[in-house]
Amino acid sequence: MIQKSPESPAYDEHIGVPLVLDHVSVSFSTPSGPARAVNDVSLTLNQGEILGLVGESGSGKSTLAFTIMGLLPDGAQFDSGSVRVLGSDLYGMNPETLRTFRWKRIAMVFQSAMNALNPVMTVEAHIMDTLQSHNPGIRPEDARRRMNEILDLVKIDPRRARSFPHELSGGMKQRIVLAIAMIFNPPVLLMDEPTTALDVVVQRSILDQVREIQAERQMAILFISHDFSLVRSLAHRVAIMYAGRIVEITGSLERSGPHHPYTEGLMRAIPELGEDDVKIVGIPGNPPDLLHLPEGCPFHPRCPVAFNRCKVEAPPMVQVNDALIACHQYTEPGKEGLA
Ligand code: SF4
Repeated sequence: MIQKSPESPAYDEHIGVPLVLDHVSVSFSTPSGPARAVNDVSLTLNQGEILGLVGESGSGKSTLAFTIMGLLPDGAQFDSGSVRVLGSDLYGMNPETLRTFRWKRIAMVFQSAMNALNPVMTVEAHIMDTLQSHNPGIRPEDARRRMNEILDLVKIDPRRARSFPHELSGGMKQRIVLAIAMIFNPPVLLMDEPTTALDVVVQRSILDQVREIQAERQMAILFISHDFSLVRSLAHRVAIMYAGRIVEITGSLERSGPHHPYTEGLMRAIPELGEDDVKIVGIPGNPPDLLHLPEGCPFHPRCPVAFNRCKVEAPPMVQVNDALIACHQYTEPGKEGLA
């Protein structure tokens, strides 16, 4: 049974929807001009939900995660839109409020984070450092109790708190990183490729645990991965990202199948776990250069069912059953193929 921490800000249904992105656009300055890495993205993450975010490398997934955390790197610019976390406008906060808000209300497990653990600091030092820097008044005995609770939660024996990172396996380091992200029991958690470097068995074990903690605490998790099969097995809904845009948001790939040609391509490119006889078919071509996006639908040079309109007009997002899809096929089916 997972114990709730006394200082944890358990989810309060009156404080707002965990995460709402409204027409968010972000670009990078480059010598050749701005590169639009996140383009007019709108989505909602609900309480108690795992929303998967999938796309090829360079599709904008990680930039979107950093945007949500208010941690855009130098050279990146928040162009427009709003990011609301638990009802609060993240880009309307002063820096001090944002610093407190981050970690306690929304936290992130970064890509390759386990490799970022300081090799000369013990597990205990990492956790106590995080606890004390965000909670300066915490008594040492309370900090230690919280550390033991959180290690217990991620199934690490608290006696390993004195270990250095090099004394731990990859799976243990990843659990430590997860523990640090969850130290204040944030209601909203972003996970960016959290298990990519681990073997399949360890990966499954950690993800089973994430699912258990998430269900117990009714957390809202945005789970980012290029691995469609992993996301499908974990998430309640899936958002597909291509060239900085969300092209499909769907809840039931099993029931109604993929709708967007890019989603179909991704599913064919990565078979489900256990599907041994499935022929893997990659998506032809490469993702577009963000500095030179094609006119119209950015997927049209790679799309097997593109038609003339696709070359000149970006498709709007439309509702099809329980999915949202940005593809002209759903507003104008049966058009002739491209010459
Ligand atoms: Fe393909 Fe056209 Fe749909 Fe884009 S809008 S995915 S090019 S059919």
